[in-house]
Amino acid sequence: MALYAELHRHLGGSVVPRVLWRYFERHSSELISRFAEYPEFEEFYTRPRNTLDEYLELHTLVESVQTVETLPYFIYRLLRGAYIFENLAYLELRYTPYLRTPEHLSQSERIDKMAEIVEVVGKASHLPEYPIVTSQILCMHTRLPYQVNKAIVDLAAQNKKYVCAVDVAGGDSYYRDRLQEWVSLYEYARSLGVNTTGHLYETKAGCYPELLPYLMRIGHGIQIPLLYPELLKDVAKRGQCLEVCPTTYLKTGTLQDIRQLKAVFDSCFQAGVDIAICTDNAGLHNMRLPFEYENLLTYDIINFEQLQACQDAAFRHAFAWPYAQRPASLLNGLLQPEPPKTLAIRE
Ligand SMILES: [Zn+2]
Repeated sequence: MALYAELHRHLGGSVVPRVLWRYFERHSSELISRFAEYPEFEEFYTRPRNTLDEYLELHTLVESVQTVETLPYFIYRLLRGAYIFENLAYLELRYTPYLRTPEHLSQSERIDKMAEIVEVVGKASHLPEYPIVTSQILCMHTRLPYQVNKAIVDLAAQNKKYVCAVDVAGGDSYYRDRLQEWVSLYEYARSLGVNTTGHLYETKAGCYPELLPYLMRIGHGIQIPLLYPELLKDVAKRGQCLEVCPTTYLKTGTLQDIRQLKAVFDSCFQAGVDIAICTDNAGLHNMRLPFEYENLLTYDIINFEQLQACQDAAFRHAFAWPYAQRPASLLNGLLQPEPPKTLAIRE
């Protein structure tokens, strides 16, 4: 039986449109008053945007309703869907804890509240009826000042029970002005033994070779094989895995055609760079991980063997998967028991 690992999913973008609509209907109907019926809302919520900035703007809509009180509601539905429809055995959920704290508080009060958010997300992610191994990635954010981002790294270091890594999000074109700051934050994270990934080389404007050595995995990274294939050798040497999220690039206008990803996969396989296939914002995309897999096969971007290599890579690069093998090899013994000996004797 195939069970999957999802390494790149945002808590904000993972709310499927139907769940969000129901939530608004019950609790904040003024936010959806301009939509007459659900299909209009779904169309608005999931339609492709022209740029990554426009696309990221949608996150703020969901962030505004994901508070310490409502997070368990959304996370319960997220895990239920992931277990029932996506066959996930492992899920890393990422988000910026500061952006889930009350806006009216001072910066230092909001920093203090972040630990509570991590705890609430951690507890809500543990559901005996939908058993998935989960962990959190805390995202530093381009809109936040250094002190807040440093506090996010500190929180990750102090809370290894629930947190497996840090990331940077908020649009990769914005790192340039504060590049030294991002380098020092990542250096700091590594010095504390915190695992690292980062949204990088997602768009043409987000290519910073200076940051690459600090990352254990690369969020997207598709511009490396597309524009800077000479970097692939070092990416392979460092054992970095690309978290490739096929639907995202069409929704953000980064690629025009999904078939452009063939070059990404081909170059990475050739260079020995691992790829984990991920959904990024499954809810915003109205997408589920098995359909991402199927799409890549349908468009002849990869074959079955390559798909399995990517699925294996996802478990290998998972920061908090507690086993040496992926679940298939753990389950095989259960699902394919030796034929009972009596059957062999009787003829
Ligand atoms: Zn992302």
